[in-house]
Amino acid sequence: MSLNTLSDVLGPAYRGGYAVAGLVVLGWEDARAFVEAAEAEGAPVILQAGPGCRAHTPLPILAAMFRTLADDAAVPVVAHLDHGYSREECVAAIDAGFTSVMFDGSRKPLQQNIEETAAIVELARSAGVSSEGEIGFVGYAAGEGSAATDPEEARLFAEATQVDAMAVSVGNVHLKESADVTIDFAAIRAIEAVTRVPLVIHGASGVPPETRTALARTTAVCKFNIGTELRKCFGTALREAVNRDPARFDRNAILSETTAPVRQAARNAIRAIAAVRETGAESAGCEGVDTKSTHGERTAHSHAGKSA
Ligand SMILES: [Zn+2]
Repeated sequence: MSLNTLSDVLGPAYRGGYAVAGLVVLGWEDARAFVEAAEAEGAPVILQAGPGCRAHTPLPILAAMFRTLADDAAVPVVAHLDHGYSREECVAAIDAGFTSVMFDGSRKPLQQNIEETAAIVELARSAGVSSEGEIGFVGYAAGEGSAATDPEEARLFAEATQVDAMAVSVGNVHLKESADVTIDFAAIRAIEAVTRVPLVIHGASGVPPETRTALARTTAVCKFNIGTELRKCFGTALREAVNRDPARFDRNAILSETTAPVRQAARNAIRAIAAVRETGAESAGCEGVDTKSTHGERTAHSHAGKSA
C-alpha cells in the first residue's frame, strides 16, 4: 500500500531539494506506464486527473484506477484531482478516494479565490486529503494569456488558505508543445521569500529540462505538472502502432506498444527533477527529453525556503 497524500511527498521534496512529477493521466495505459517509470526511478509520483480526463472517464473509475496502481506500487503514489473548478468537483473527488485536490479559483477575483480555496482546504484536511491552489493565472498556449503571480498576493493567499501546495505563474504556460519558455527566477525568489509553501509549476512541458532541474534543486518548486510532452509521446507511439499492421484490430495489442516509449519519456521527466541518486540510468527519449546531461550536474543546493 503506497497511496500517499500530496503533503506526504512534497514535504520531503521541499526539505530535500528536489521535486515530484505530477503526470497528467488520460487513461489506464499511461497511468500504468507512469507508475512503472516512477518505480524504475525510485521516485514518488503524482497521478493527475484533469478536466479532459474527467470528461472521458467518471471520477470514481479514475480514483479506483489510481488507488489500485498505488496499492501495488513500490513507490509513493498520490491520487490528485487537477484543476477542480467547483466545490462540488472537489467533494466528489474526495468522496471517490482521491488523496489530493486542486481547487482552481485563479480566474476569480483575489478575495473570492482566497475564500473558496480556504473552504476547500478545510474540507479536504478534515478528510485527510491534501490541497493545491493557484494564485496568479497560468495561461494557455494559443489561448488565454497569463497573469504573473504577485508575491504579496501569494503571501496573502498562502497565509489565508493554508494550502499544501501553491501553483504560481512565473513564465510557465499550459499546453506548450516545445520547451522554450523563460522562467522568472527572480519572481520565484520573491515568492519564496515571503511564503513557506511548496510551489507548483503547471505547464512544465514548456519548461526546458535543464531549467526544471535548476528549479527543483534550488527553489521551493516541488511539483511540476507534465502533460503535453507525454501526450505527444503516447499519440506518436499509438499512431505508429496502428499503422504498423493494417490487419491488426485488437486494441489491447495496439495499445501495448505505447507502454515502453511512454514509460521512458516519463522516466526522463521524473529523473530531471528527482532527488540525485548515485546510479546512472540509461535514457532514450521519446520526444527528445533526454536529461542525461543535467543528471550529471550534482549541485548541493537546497531550497531557499528551507533556510529562510
Ligand atoms: Zn494546470
